[in-house]
Amino acid sequence: MDFETTFIAQVITVIGFAVGLSIVVASGRYPRHIRGSLRAYSYGKFLLGSAFLIAGYRGGQAPELLIPLANGIGLAGLSMNYTSVRHLQNRPVWPFVPAAVGAAVGLSCLLLLFVGGGIGWVRVLVSFATSAVLLVIAFEVLVRYQGRGIPHYVTGLLCASLAVVYLVRMSAGMAQEDAPATYMLDDRVERATFLLSLLGTVIGAINYVLMASDEFNRELSKLAHTDGLTGALNRRRLFEMGEVEFRRARRYGRELTVLVLDIDRFKSINDHAGHPFGDRVIRAVADCCTGQIRHEDALGRIGGEEFAILLPETGAEAGRMLAERLRGAIERQLAQLGAEAGVTVTCSIGGVSLTREHSEFSDLMAQSDTALYDAKHAGRNQVRFFPEAAHPVPMPA
Ligand code: GH3
Ligand code: MG
Ligand code: MG
Repeated sequence: MDFETTFIAQVITVIGFAVGLSIVVASGRYPRHIRGSLRAYSYGKFLLGSAFLIAGYRGGQAPELLIPLANGIGLAGLSMNYTSVRHLQNRPVWPFVPAAVGAAVGLSCLLLLFVGGGIGWVRVLVSFATSAVLLVIAFEVLVRYQGRGIPHYVTGLLCASLAVVYLVRMSAGMAQEDAPATYMLDDRVERATFLLSLLGTVIGAINYVLMASDEFNRELSKLAHTDGLTGALNRRRLFEMGEVEFRRARRYGRELTVLVLDIDRFKSINDHAGHPFGDRVIRAVADCCTGQIRHEDALGRIGGEEFAILLPETGAEAGRMLAERLRGAIERQLAQLGAEAGVTVTCSIGGVSLTREHSEFSDLMAQSDTALYDAKHAGRNQVRFFPEAAHPVPMPA
């Protein structure tokens, strides 16, 4: 294949616009951060397409003033890939990164062309900047990305390989003794660089869409597993995890404790301060629980104002200590919120630790419920553990 560089530039323009248009049209139906990423990516492709449009203009004989513009726009477009990867992970990103990179490259090209250096040095500078941006993206995708899969590795390796291609182009520019006769070179290095950039644009776009789809699937499974009000696990997921932890603990002889927590007299909090305030209380209790437990523990909202906590590798003694600490933390930390509406927020906790007698996870849930019932009966704002609560006295209504 021996295409001229201007022809390849025109093909990149068409592909850039086509990819940008397809992705921006599809972006509307995705969650906010994925949509932000898809849009950043497509705007980047529009910029890249425009840059190559200018570069290929009049068969590569664009007026000199357009050279800094084309390179500035191209680098801004490439930097938007970085922005879009950051958005995909919901990580903070300074929104002016592409504009800053584009302006810096454009202005430097302008200086090289009109103050000193010439077109040969423009090629060196732009190759260096391209390579640097590609390496930053490769680092972001290969090292910093959480939950990497095959499309992430392909994208990272692709960016790293293209960075090497641009470093070769930079070396070729530095080794060149005479100033190039035209702005749009058509030597072997230039043709190879453009051809590989074209290939990179296509492979990059496919893998970017796969990355975005990966992220979307992750988002969906998170939605299916979490409770919308508190962000804790929902009832179904908590029970699924409970079954898994139960089997694991039984098989390997490990410890496991289950706590069930219920907010005291919540009906009267709702009646007194209103349902939206009640919701704030539920959220605050969930936050307080999350702050007290370890990363390996699991918190689930299993009813209106009722939570369950799975504590793997935790025996009865440590489980009781945690439950007591949690009860005290809720009493203290929710005092201020309760005072806003003139109510007191406390909770009762029932717990149980795994023994040989337990044959199913549901046994643990039933027994911690019994313990919770006993804590309520003993006056609320207390912790009780099974089996001391084996025979609860019926509670007055
Ligand atoms: P107890 O101390 O015995 O637990 O008394 P209680 O009033 O908390 O009794 P119960 O657990 O039976 O009451 C739960 C109440 O929680 C009933 C329902 O109106 C309320 N509720 C359930 N889900 C939600 C919710 O999502 N938001 C709000 N604000 N209230 C809820
Ligand atoms: Mg309650
Ligand atoms: Mg309840």
